[in-house]
Amino acid sequence: MPIDATQPYDDSNIFARILRGEIPSNKVYEDDNVLAFHDINPLAPVHILVIPRGAYVSWDDFSETAPEVEIAGLTRAVGKVARDAGLVERGYRVLANVGPDSGQEVPHLHLHIFGGRPLGPMLAR
Ligand code: 5GP
Repeated sequence: MPIDATQPYDDSNIFARILRGEIPSNKVYEDDNVLAFHDINPLAPVHILVIPRGAYVSWDDFSETAPEVEIAGLTRAVGKVARDAGLVERGYRVLANVGPDSGQEVPHLHLHIFGGRPLGPMLAR
């Protein structure tokens, strides 16, 4: 069920629970600003989610309100995770869904990293 990204942050969401350690995840990277883990329902041979530790519903509030250290931290972490996964030579895709038209389902900002096979057209026509 797509979420409304204009709603206030609700810390009962599944990624907030993963950040608090209440639910396990298959972690690939973590630091002071971010956590990265494998998607539970991968859509490509490599499908990793990178999330900020801060409470942001989507790219919208993150890009508007996050301190620059958090924005830089997330950006660098996405690059590092993709690099460490060996995706740079063949290529990969980074995607963030925001709100209903995108199909965003989890109301905590997450960047998808997809790779490991040709990923096809950017969007279905
Ligand atoms: P969205 O559609 O919100 O951009 O993507 C949410 C993603 O989170 C989906 O790809 C879904 O498979 C993944 N996901 C949902 N619940 C869990 C979970 O409990 N653990 C992990 N690792 N991924 C999850």
